Amino acid sequence: MLTVRGLRKSFGTTRVLESIDLTVGRGRVLALIGPSGSGKTTILRCLNGLENADGGTITITPAEADPASGAAAAGTGTEMTVDFGAAGARATSRLAALRDRSAMVFQNYNLFPHKTVLENVLEGPVVVQRRPKAEVTAEALALLTRVGLADKTDAYPFELSGGQQQRVGIVRALALRPQLLLFDEPTSSLDPELVGDVLRLIKELAIEGWTMVIVTHELEFAREVASEIAFVDGGRIVEHGDPKQVLRDPREERTRQFLHRLL
Ligand code: ATP
Repeated sequence: MLTVRGLRKSFGTTRVLESIDLTVGRGRVLALIGPSGSGKTTILRCLNGLENADGGTITITPAEADPASGAAAAGTGTEMTVDFGAAGARATSRLAALRDRSAMVFQNYNLFPHKTVLENVLEGPVVVQRRPKAEVTAEALALLTRVGLADKTDAYPFELSGGQQQRVGIVRALALRPQLLLFDEPTSSLDPELVGDVLRLIKELAIEGWTMVIVTHELEFAREVASEIAFVDGGRIVEHGDPKQVLRDPREERTRQFLHRLL
């Protein structure tokens, strides 16, 4: 479960996130939609510890303190709150705490170009999380097989299609055993014929009960996969609700105008 309270972020004198409040229940999928530059990616980057927010809190609560999940062993089996307004705490330790719990799938895949597919997947769990290489390798191979890439483990990213690279990106995120999965426009760099495979995989993950936040411009996908939709504009959550209601009958005029432009 994810709870965000009063999250604020500026770049220089530009206020990008005004005061973001969000709750995403365990196993729920939140789609963030909104115009370009409204702050959607910045929200994800704060959640993933890639940006240091100026204020507010982020709380991530694991499903349960389940030793079999590896969360307890990794010291991540308890609820964690990062308070960006707290005096004294070092930014690096806040960001590391968030990165321990969440994993991000990027628009442009962000694979290491000089590492093979398998090496890309192993890097985080083995080097950062210091989990046993043999155990992580077995898990990585099972995940790569699941997404149809068993024969590509020794390939380099440049030898793969965009859709295959994005599936590696998703496997790399899953191999971290995160409590929160974040997707930043996961299909917007893909050729249209490759979008379907990636969306199907994300839908499967939703059915499996992963807690996810997805920034997307694919409204049809959001309607199908999300349990809730938040419309972001000007660094604020303008409207947050059931996907059908938000897309079909938005309460706010700004949401209505945005959807009208897209449809
Ligand atoms: P898009 O849909 O186009 O990806 P977005 O809603 O994800 O947009 P963000 O990428 O979060 O928007 O950007 C919000 C605002 O913050 C934009 O005005 C952007 O120019 C600004 N911004 C983002 N990152 C930085 C940065 N590192 N330095 C300065 N300004 C930034």
